[in-house]
Amino acid sequence: MNRDWVEKDFYKTLGVTTEASADDIKRAYRKLAQENHPDANPGDTNAEERFKQISEAYAVLGNAEKRKEYDDLKRLVGSGGFAGFGGAGPGGQRVRVEDLDDLLSGFGGLGDIFGAGRGRKQGPKRGADATAELHLAFTDAVSGVTTSVSVRGEASCSRCGGAGAEPGTSAHTCPTCHGSGSVAQNQGFFSFTSPCTQCRGTGRIIETPCTTCRGSGRTVRTRTIKVKIPAGVKDGSTIRLRGKGAPGANGGPPGDLLVAVHVDSHAVFGRSGNDLTVSVPVTYSEAALGTKIEVPTLDGAVTLKVPSGTPSGKTFRVRGRGIQLDRGKSGDLLVRVEVVVPKRLSRDEKKLLEQLATYQDDDVRAHLKTAP
Ligand SMILES: [Zn+2]
Ligand SMILES: [Zn+2]
Repeated sequence: MNRDWVEKDFYKTLGVTTEASADDIKRAYRKLAQENHPDANPGDTNAEERFKQISEAYAVLGNAEKRKEYDDLKRLVGSGGFAGFGGAGPGGQRVRVEDLDDLLSGFGGLGDIFGAGRGRKQGPKRGADATAELHLAFTDAVSGVTTSVSVRGEASCSRCGGAGAEPGTSAHTCPTCHGSGSVAQNQGFFSFTSPCTQCRGTGRIIETPCTTCRGSGRTVRTRTIKVKIPAGVKDGSTIRLRGKGAPGANGGPPGDLLVAVHVDSHAVFGRSGNDLTVSVPVTYSEAALGTKIEVPTLDGAVTLKVPSGTPSGKTFRVRGRGIQLDRGKSGDLLVRVEVVVPKRLSRDEKKLLEQLATYQDDDVRAHLKTAP
Protein backbone atom coordinates (compact mmCIF):
# COMPACT_ATOMS: atom_id res chain seq x y z
CA MET A 1 0.00 0.00 0.00
CA ASN A 2 1.31 3.47 -0.64
CA ARG A 3 0.16 7.02 -0.34
CA ASP A 4 -0.47 7.42 -4.08
CA TRP A 5 -3.50 5.18 -3.80
CA VAL A 6 -5.50 7.88 -2.10
CA GLU A 7 -5.29 10.22 -5.06
CA LYS A 8 -5.29 7.76 -7.95
CA ASP A 9 -8.26 6.20 -9.65
CA PHE A 10 -7.06 2.86 -10.97
CA TYR A 11 -10.53 1.88 -12.20
CA LYS A 12 -10.66 4.95 -14.39
CA THR A 13 -7.14 4.25 -15.69
CA LEU A 14 -8.22 0.82 -16.86
CA GLY A 15 -11.61 2.09 -18.06
CA VAL A 16 -13.62 -0.30 -15.92
CA THR A 17 -16.24 0.13 -13.21
CA THR A 18 -15.61 -0.63 -9.55
CA GLU A 19 -17.88 -3.67 -10.01
CA ALA A 20 -15.72 -5.12 -12.81
CA SER A 21 -14.84 -8.80 -12.44
CA ALA A 22 -11.26 -10.04 -12.36
CA ASP A 23 -11.65 -11.18 -15.96
CA ASP A 24 -12.99 -7.78 -17.05
CA ILE A 25 -9.99 -6.12 -15.47
CA LYS A 26 -7.55 -8.52 -17.09
CA ARG A 27 -9.14 -8.04 -20.48
CA ALA A 28 -9.14 -4.25 -20.21
CA TYR A 29 -5.51 -4.27 -19.10
CA ARG A 30 -4.34 -6.47 -22.00
CA LYS A 31 -6.09 -4.34 -24.55
CA LEU A 32 -4.75 -1.04 -23.17
CA ALA A 33 -1.25 -2.44 -22.62
CA GLN A 34 -1.10 -3.59 -26.21
CA GLU A 35 -2.29 -0.24 -27.56
CA ASN A 36 0.09 1.81 -25.44
CA HIS A 37 3.10 -0.47 -25.41
CA PRO A 38 6.32 1.52 -26.05
CA ASP A 39 7.32 -0.98 -28.77
CA ALA A 40 4.14 -0.13 -30.68
CA ASN A 41 4.58 3.62 -30.12
CA PRO A 42 8.26 4.42 -30.60
CA GLY A 43 9.09 7.92 -29.42
CA ASP A 44 5.59 8.62 -28.04
CA THR A 45 6.19 9.75 -24.45
CA ASN A 46 2.45 10.09 -23.76
CA ALA A 47 1.94 6.46 -24.65
CA GLU A 48 4.86 5.51 -22.47
CA GLU A 49 3.38 7.40 -19.53
CA ARG A 50 -0.04 5.84 -20.12
CA PHE A 51 1.58 2.40 -20.27
CA LYS A 52 3.18 2.99 -16.88
CA GLN A 53 -0.13 4.06 -15.35
CA ILE A 54 -1.93 1.06 -16.80
CA SER A 55 0.70 -1.28 -15.39
CA GLU A 56 0.51 0.37 -12.01
CA ALA A 57 -3.28 0.14 -11.96
CA TYR A 58 -3.23 -3.49 -12.97
CA ALA A 59 -0.62 -4.35 -10.34
CA VAL A 60 -3.22 -3.35 -7.75
CA LEU A 61 -6.57 -4.27 -9.33
CA GLY A 62 -5.22 -7.48 -10.83
CA ASN A 63 -4.32 -8.74 -7.38
CA ALA A 64 -7.38 -9.69 -5.32
CA GLU A 65 -5.75 -8.87 -2.02
CA LYS A 66 -4.37 -5.49 -3.07
CA ARG A 67 -7.62 -4.62 -4.81
CA LYS A 68 -9.51 -5.21 -1.57
CA GLU A 69 -7.12 -2.96 0.35
CA TYR A 70 -7.46 -0.30 -2.31
CA ASP A 71 -11.26 -0.55 -2.25
CA ASP A 72 -11.31 -0.34 1.54
CA LEU A 73 -9.14 2.72 1.47
CA LYS A 74 -11.24 4.40 -1.18
CA ARG A 75 -14.40 3.63 0.72
CA LEU A 76 -12.99 5.21 3.86
CA VAL A 77 -11.72 8.38 2.30
CA GLY A 78 -14.68 8.63 -0.07
CA SER A 79 -14.39 10.29 -3.41
CA GLY A 80 -15.76 13.72 -2.64
CA GLY A 81 -13.42 15.27 -0.12
CA PHE A 82 -14.11 12.92 2.75
CA ALA A 83 -17.83 13.46 2.91
CA GLY A 84 -19.17 11.64 5.91
CA PHE A 85 -15.98 11.93 7.84
CA GLY A 86 -16.99 13.40 11.15
CA GLY A 87 -18.78 16.24 9.41
CA ALA A 88 -15.97 17.18 7.08
CA GLY A 89 -17.82 18.71 4.24
CA PRO A 90 -17.28 18.41 0.52
CA GLY A 91 -15.03 20.94 -1.10
CA GLY A 92 -11.74 19.72 0.24
CA GLN A 93 -11.79 20.39 3.93
CA ARG A 94 -8.45 19.16 5.13
CA VAL A 95 -8.22 16.11 7.30
CA ARG A 96 -5.34 15.70 9.63
CA VAL A 97 -3.44 12.50 9.08
CA GLU A 98 -3.52 11.82 12.80
CA ASP A 99 -7.32 11.96 12.73
CA LEU A 100 -7.47 9.44 9.95
CA ASP A 101 -5.12 7.09 11.64
CA ASP A 102 -7.68 5.67 14.04
CA LEU A 103 -10.22 5.18 11.29
CA LEU A 104 -7.76 3.34 9.12
CA SER A 105 -6.15 1.30 11.83
CA GLY A 106 -8.20 -1.64 10.62
CA PHE A 107 -5.75 -2.24 7.87
CA GLY A 108 -2.46 -1.38 9.36
CA GLY A 109 -2.84 2.34 9.85
CA LEU A 110 -1.58 5.13 7.72
CA GLY A 111 1.99 4.32 8.59
CA ASP A 112 1.86 1.87 5.70
CA ILE A 113 0.29 4.28 3.30
CA PHE A 114 2.24 7.38 4.01
CA GLY A 115 5.54 5.81 4.84
CA ALA A 116 8.30 8.10 5.95
CA GLY A 117 6.53 11.22 4.76
CA ARG A 118 4.62 11.50 7.91
CA GLY A 119 5.62 12.57 11.36
CA ARG A 120 4.19 13.39 14.68
CA LYS A 121 5.22 16.04 17.08
CA GLN A 122 7.81 14.65 19.43
CA GLY A 123 5.80 14.62 22.62
CA PRO A 124 7.09 14.34 26.18
CA LYS A 125 8.85 11.05 26.77
CA ARG A 126 9.36 9.50 30.16
CA GLY A 127 12.97 8.69 31.06
CA ALA A 128 14.19 5.11 31.34
CA ASP A 129 14.24 3.27 34.64
CA ALA A 130 17.67 2.83 36.20
CA THR A 131 18.74 -0.11 38.36
CA ALA A 132 21.07 -0.52 41.31
CA GLU A 133 22.06 -3.33 43.66
CA LEU A 134 22.19 -3.00 47.41
CA HIS A 135 23.73 -5.46 49.89
CA LEU A 136 22.45 -5.15 53.42
CA ALA A 137 23.57 -6.64 56.70
CA PHE A 138 20.92 -8.87 58.24
CA THR A 139 20.32 -6.57 61.19
CA ASP A 140 20.05 -3.47 58.95
CA ALA A 141 17.42 -5.22 56.84
CA VAL A 142 15.52 -6.19 59.96
CA SER A 143 15.58 -2.80 61.65
CA GLY A 144 15.53 -0.60 58.56
CA VAL A 145 18.31 1.78 57.60
CA THR A 146 19.04 4.84 55.50
CA THR A 147 21.92 4.21 53.17
CA SER A 148 22.98 5.16 49.65
CA VAL A 149 23.54 3.50 46.30
CA SER A 150 25.74 4.46 43.38
CA VAL A 151 24.03 4.66 40.03
CA ARG A 152 25.96 5.14 36.80
CA GLY A 153 23.98 6.25 33.78
CA GLU A 154 22.22 9.15 32.10
CA ALA A 155 21.35 11.90 34.49
CA SER A 156 20.25 15.48 34.32
CA CYS A 157 23.33 17.66 33.62
CA SER A 158 24.49 19.18 36.87
CA ARG A 159 25.99 22.25 35.18
CA CYS A 160 22.85 23.50 33.43
CA GLY A 161 20.29 21.66 35.55
CA GLY A 162 19.07 19.80 32.48
CA ALA A 163 18.11 22.94 30.54
CA GLY A 164 20.88 22.44 27.99
CA ALA A 165 21.74 26.16 27.92
CA GLU A 166 24.98 27.49 29.34
CA PRO A 167 24.33 28.95 32.81
CA GLY A 168 23.49 32.63 32.42
CA THR A 169 21.86 32.11 29.03
CA SER A 170 18.49 30.62 28.20
CA ALA A 171 16.84 28.78 25.37
CA HIS A 172 14.22 30.53 23.30
CA THR A 173 11.18 29.36 21.42
CA CYS A 174 11.82 28.00 17.94
CA PRO A 175 10.70 30.63 15.39
CA THR A 176 9.86 28.01 12.76
CA CYS A 177 7.38 25.92 14.72
CA HIS A 178 6.61 28.49 17.43
CA GLY A 179 7.48 25.97 20.10
CA SER A 180 5.17 23.20 18.99
CA GLY A 181 8.03 21.05 17.68
CA SER A 182 6.18 20.19 14.51
CA VAL A 183 5.35 21.83 11.21
CA ALA A 184 2.31 21.26 9.00
CA GLN A 185 2.61 20.45 5.32
CA ASN A 186 -0.37 20.31 3.04
CA GLN A 187 -0.48 17.57 0.46
CA GLY A 188 -3.64 16.95 -1.50
CA PHE A 189 -6.48 16.37 0.89
CA PHE A 190 -4.16 15.88 3.80
CA SER A 191 -2.41 18.04 6.27
CA PHE A 192 0.73 16.30 7.46
CA THR A 193 2.69 17.24 10.50
CA SER A 194 6.36 16.41 10.67
CA PRO A 195 8.97 17.19 13.30
CA CYS A 196 10.42 20.67 12.94
CA THR A 197 13.90 20.40 11.43
CA GLN A 198 15.21 23.62 12.91
CA CYS A 199 14.72 22.57 16.54
CA ARG A 200 14.55 18.83 15.84
CA GLY A 201 11.13 18.59 17.37
CA THR A 202 12.00 20.10 20.73
CA GLY A 203 10.32 23.46 20.12
CA ARG A 204 13.31 25.27 21.62
CA ILE A 205 16.52 26.71 20.24
CA ILE A 206 19.60 26.78 22.44
CA GLU A 207 22.00 29.44 21.18
CA THR A 208 24.73 28.93 23.77
CA PRO A 209 24.80 25.24 24.60
CA CYS A 210 26.03 24.12 28.00
CA THR A 211 29.72 23.25 27.75
CA THR A 212 29.31 20.08 29.80
CA CYS A 213 26.37 18.41 28.04
CA ARG A 214 26.63 20.29 24.71
CA GLY A 215 23.00 21.26 24.94
CA SER A 216 21.48 17.85 25.54
CA GLY A 217 20.73 18.61 29.18
CA ARG A 218 21.99 15.19 30.21
CA THR A 219 25.29 13.55 30.98
CA VAL A 220 26.43 10.07 31.84
CA ARG A 221 27.76 10.11 35.36
CA THR A 222 27.69 8.34 38.67
CA ARG A 223 25.16 9.60 41.14
CA THR A 224 24.96 8.75 44.83
CA ILE A 225 21.35 8.36 45.81
CA LYS A 226 20.02 8.12 49.34
CA VAL A 227 17.79 5.11 49.94
CA LYS A 228 15.57 4.69 52.94
CA ILE A 229 15.17 0.99 53.63
CA PRO A 230 12.01 0.13 55.56
CA ALA A 231 12.27 -2.25 58.52
CA GLY A 232 11.81 -5.88 57.58
CA VAL A 233 12.88 -5.62 53.92
CA LYS A 234 13.23 -9.10 52.43
CA ASP A 235 16.13 -10.54 50.49
CA GLY A 236 15.39 -10.37 46.76
CA SER A 237 12.91 -7.51 47.01
CA THR A 238 13.01 -4.40 44.86
CA ILE A 239 12.59 -0.87 46.11
CA ARG A 240 11.29 1.66 43.60
CA LEU A 241 12.45 5.24 43.97
CA ARG A 242 10.16 7.40 41.87
CA GLY A 243 11.81 9.92 39.59
CA LYS A 244 15.37 8.81 40.34
CA GLY A 245 15.98 7.17 36.95
CA ALA A 246 17.14 8.69 33.67
CA PRO A 247 15.76 12.14 32.79
CA GLY A 248 12.80 12.35 30.41
CA ALA A 249 12.85 13.95 26.98
CA ASN A 250 10.89 16.98 25.75
CA GLY A 251 9.61 17.81 29.18
CA GLY A 252 8.68 14.21 30.04
CA PRO A 253 9.09 12.95 33.61
CA PRO A 254 12.21 11.07 34.70
CA GLY A 255 12.16 7.28 35.05
CA ASP A 256 12.38 5.43 38.35
CA LEU A 257 15.31 3.83 40.12
CA LEU A 258 14.82 0.16 40.95
CA VAL A 259 17.03 -0.97 43.80
CA ALA A 260 17.47 -4.75 44.07
CA VAL A 261 18.01 -5.64 47.72
CA HIS A 262 20.25 -8.50 48.82
CA VAL A 263 20.26 -9.36 52.50
CA ASP A 264 23.27 -11.14 54.00
CA SER A 265 22.62 -14.14 56.18
CA HIS A 266 23.16 -14.02 59.93
CA ALA A 267 25.34 -16.37 61.99
CA VAL A 268 22.59 -17.05 64.51
CA PHE A 269 19.24 -15.94 63.14
CA GLY A 270 17.25 -16.89 60.11
CA ARG A 271 14.05 -15.39 58.74
CA SER A 272 10.65 -16.69 57.83
CA GLY A 273 8.61 -13.74 56.62
CA ASN A 274 8.48 -11.38 59.57
CA ASP A 275 9.38 -14.07 62.06
CA LEU A 276 12.95 -14.61 63.19
CA THR A 277 14.16 -18.18 63.58
CA VAL A 278 16.84 -19.52 65.88
CA SER A 279 17.98 -23.05 66.69
CA VAL A 280 18.91 -23.84 70.30
CA PRO A 281 20.70 -27.08 71.31
CA VAL A 282 19.64 -28.89 74.50
CA THR A 283 20.96 -32.07 76.07
CA TYR A 284 18.98 -35.26 76.29
CA SER A 285 18.56 -34.76 80.03
CA GLU A 286 17.32 -31.19 79.59
CA ALA A 287 14.77 -32.26 76.99
CA ALA A 288 13.64 -35.22 79.06
CA LEU A 289 13.52 -33.47 82.44
CA GLY A 290 12.58 -29.99 81.29
CA THR A 291 14.66 -26.85 81.77
CA LYS A 292 14.86 -23.11 81.30
CA ILE A 293 17.14 -21.83 78.56
CA GLU A 294 18.45 -18.42 77.57
CA VAL A 295 17.50 -17.59 74.01
CA PRO A 296 19.12 -14.67 72.14
CA THR A 297 16.93 -12.14 70.36
CA LEU A 298 17.93 -9.07 68.36
CA ASP A 299 17.19 -7.09 71.48
CA GLY A 300 18.64 -8.94 74.48
CA ALA A 301 18.11 -12.52 75.65
CA VAL A 302 14.84 -14.04 76.81
CA THR A 303 14.25 -17.05 79.03
CA LEU A 304 12.35 -19.94 77.48
CA LYS A 305 10.82 -22.73 79.52
CA VAL A 306 11.36 -26.10 77.88
CA PRO A 307 8.85 -28.53 79.39
CA SER A 308 9.79 -32.06 80.31
CA GLY A 309 9.43 -34.57 77.51
CA THR A 310 10.20 -32.09 74.72
CA PRO A 311 11.05 -33.91 71.49
CA SER A 312 13.99 -32.79 69.38
CA GLY A 313 12.92 -30.35 66.67
CA LYS A 314 9.99 -28.89 68.55
CA THR A 315 9.49 -25.19 67.85
CA PHE A 316 8.42 -22.66 70.44
CA ARG A 317 7.00 -19.28 69.56
CA VAL A 318 8.07 -16.20 71.51
CA ARG A 319 5.50 -13.55 70.63
CA GLY A 320 6.58 -10.13 69.47
CA ARG A 321 10.31 -10.80 69.41
CA GLY A 322 10.63 -11.07 65.63
CA ILE A 323 10.96 -8.25 63.16
CA GLN A 324 9.57 -4.95 64.43
CA LEU A 325 7.51 -3.37 61.65
CA ASP A 326 5.90 0.01 61.41
CA ARG A 327 2.72 0.84 63.31
CA GLY A 328 3.69 -1.33 66.29
CA LYS A 329 3.32 -4.58 64.36
CA SER A 330 5.95 -7.25 64.80
CA GLY A 331 6.78 -10.82 63.98
CA ASP A 332 7.60 -13.60 66.45
CA LEU A 333 10.76 -15.44 67.40
CA LEU A 334 10.57 -19.13 66.49
CA VAL A 335 12.85 -21.19 68.72
CA ARG A 336 13.63 -24.68 67.51
CA VAL A 337 14.97 -26.98 70.20
CA GLU A 338 17.50 -29.55 68.99
CA VAL A 339 18.64 -32.42 71.19
CA VAL A 340 22.37 -32.91 70.82
CA VAL A 341 23.88 -36.33 71.20
CA PRO A 342 27.45 -36.44 72.56
CA LYS A 343 29.98 -37.89 70.14
CA ARG A 344 32.33 -39.05 72.87
CA LEU A 345 31.45 -40.35 76.34
CA SER A 346 33.56 -40.62 79.50
CA ARG A 347 33.69 -43.97 81.23
CA ASP A 348 31.27 -42.76 83.92
CA GLU A 349 28.83 -41.33 81.42
CA LYS A 350 28.85 -44.57 79.49
CA LYS A 351 28.19 -46.56 82.65
CA LEU A 352 25.26 -44.35 83.61
CA LEU A 353 23.75 -44.49 80.15
CA GLU A 354 24.00 -48.27 80.03
CA GLN A 355 22.26 -48.37 83.38
CA LEU A 356 19.59 -46.03 82.05
CA ALA A 357 19.11 -48.21 79.01
CA THR A 358 18.01 -51.12 81.18
CA TYR A 359 15.07 -48.98 82.36
CA GLN A 360 14.02 -48.09 78.86
CA ASP A 361 13.02 -51.49 77.61
CA ASP A 362 10.01 -50.15 75.65
CA ASP A 363 10.33 -50.93 71.97
CA VAL A 364 10.59 -47.39 70.50
CA ARG A 365 10.49 -48.77 66.95
CA ALA A 366 7.37 -50.90 67.42
CA HIS A 367 5.35 -48.78 64.95
CA LEU A 368 7.82 -49.50 62.14
CA LYS A 369 7.09 -53.22 62.29
CA THR A 370 3.72 -52.76 60.65
CA ALA A 371 5.43 -51.41 57.53
CA PRO A 372 5.43 -53.78 54.54
ZN1 LIG B 1 24.43 20.93 30.66
ZN1 LIG C 1 11.00 24.17 15.69
